[in-house]
Amino acid sequence: MAGTRPAPSRWRRSNGPFGQSHGWQPVLPTCLKPYLYSESAVRAVPAPLQVVCSTQEVPEMADMTQHSAFGGHRPSFSDLVAALNGRWHRQALLTFLVIVLAHWAEHLSQAFQIWGLGWTRPESRGVLGLAFPWLVTSEWLHYGYAIAMLGGLVLLRPGFVGRARTWWDIAIVLQFWHHIEHILLLFQVAVLHHPLFGSAVPTSIAQLAFPRVELHLFYNAIVTIPMLIAMLYHRQPSAEDARQMTCNCAVRGLATATT
Ligand SMILES: [Zn+2]
Repeated sequence: MAGTRPAPSRWRRSNGPFGQSHGWQPVLPTCLKPYLYSESAVRAVPAPLQVVCSTQEVPEMADMTQHSAFGGHRPSFSDLVAALNGRWHRQALLTFLVIVLAHWAEHLSQAFQIWGLGWTRPESRGVLGLAFPWLVTSEWLHYGYAIAMLGGLVLLRPGFVGRARTWWDIAIVLQFWHHIEHILLLFQVAVLHHPLFGSAVPTSIAQLAFPRVELHLFYNAIVTIPMLIAMLYHRQPSAEDARQMTCNCAVRGLATATT
C-alpha cells in the first residue's frame, strides 16, 4: 500500500459526520464523490465516468479498493454512521420508508374502521391492534415508535444536502415536537400513574384542542410529507446538490454530479 500511495497532496485528513477523525483518506476527484463510500462501485468505475474523469485521476481510485470496507480497521460508530449516510444510504432510507409506511397502514386502517365502518373508537385498533390490543393501548410502544422515528431521521440526516436537507430538517423539528407530546403521555402512565388536565385518559397538550386519533393522523402527516419531499429532492438533486452528495441515491447522480 505504502509503495502505491499517491503524493501527500492527494491525501487529506477526513472527519466523520460528527467530527470524528477517519485518518488519512485519498482526495477524490469531484466527479467520483458519489462513490466515496461505495468501493464496489469504485471497483467497476462506470464507462461514462472514465470519459468524464481525467485518466490521471481514475487509476488513483483503484488504490482505494485495497482497503477493506472500513479502511482495514474495526468499524466504529462513526464509521457505521458514515456508511449509513454513504454507500448504504439508499438501502437505509428504503428500510426507514417501509417502517414509516407500515405505521401509516395501521393509522389509516384505524381511520377506516372509525369513519368507514362506523366502529367505536375503542373498537378501532387498526389491523395488528385487533389481534394485539396492547399495541394500541401501550404508551410505551407509542413513545418507542416516536423516538425510533426521531432517531432514524437524525441518523440518516448527514446524507442529505441542499434542498433535501432543508425539508429533512423540517421533518426532524416536527417529529421532535410529536415525540415531546408522546413523552407527556408516557409520563402520565409511567411516572404520575394518573392522567393530567383532569382527563380520564392520558392527554397531551394539543389533545386539549383536538381528538387523539385525528391529532396523530395530523402529526404523522406533517412529518411524512416533508420527509417524502426531502427524499424526492434527494433522488433528483440539482447539479449543485449532487456535487455535495456522498451516497448513490440520486437517480441522475452520474449526470448531475458532472454538470
Ligand atoms: Zn442518499
